[in-house]
Amino acid sequence: MFSDDEVERYARHLVLREVGGPGQARIRRARVLIVGVGGLGSPTALYLAAAGIGKLGLVDDDAVSLSNLQRQILFRTKDVGRPKVDAGAEALKALNSGVQIESHPIRITPANAMELIAGYDIVADGSDNFATRFLLNDACFFARKVLVSAAVTEFEGQLATYKGYEPAYPCYRCLFPAPPSPGTIANCSETGVLGAAAGVMGSLQALEVLKEAAGLGTGLSGKILTYKALGAEFRTARLAKDPACALCGTAPTITGLSGQG
Ligand SMILES: [Zn+2]
Repeated sequence: MFSDDEVERYARHLVLREVGGPGQARIRRARVLIVGVGGLGSPTALYLAAAGIGKLGLVDDDAVSLSNLQRQILFRTKDVGRPKVDAGAEALKALNSGVQIESHPIRITPANAMELIAGYDIVADGSDNFATRFLLNDACFFARKVLVSAAVTEFEGQLATYKGYEPAYPCYRCLFPAPPSPGTIANCSETGVLGAAAGVMGSLQALEVLKEAAGLGTGLSGKILTYKALGAEFRTARLAKDPACALCGTAPTITGLSGQG
């Protein structure tokens, strides 16, 4: 079931009792969509491609800029000016040609979100804006897809897995009912971000995606992990489902993606 090359490439996974052949086969079958190929999406994509994920989708409508290279480790200086999904797909193919890469050089919108995520099992949110975060949360809820959501700013990061379609687990709106008004929260181009902090959160995101794909350990559903780089502190807190949530609560008022974006 694995070629000789695969047995050698994934040898350090195959010897792990908790992964082994069956776990690696589940990883190979998994289809993961990465939204935002930036400081978070770069390490997430690299680790998932290295791990042998079956299909990786990349969604980003941006081009590589010089100021990206401080943290977006998927790219090289020669890539400046190229579409991120093109440079990214090339780098990932060079790392592991056994992974199927699908490039989506577009911005995710309420009109295309359901179609975009339909071909994947797990969505990794590494986007840099609230409109996309809420849109992905709602789309993954309706499509019953696992959403592993990472965020980073300055020296701090957050990570959670949302399965609001399950009765026991919250969605992102259980934590934040609605997006903040535009302009009230600065993005990383305004506040800055330590590149390696984005690397920590993206690596953790890849790890949680692999756990979901291979059925390993205890995931971050119903929990939120925060990392404060300056104090070198990790904390995990419980995240309860909000019965009054407009999306996944007992009397939902959000019943589709229209009216967003
Ligand atoms: Zn909810």
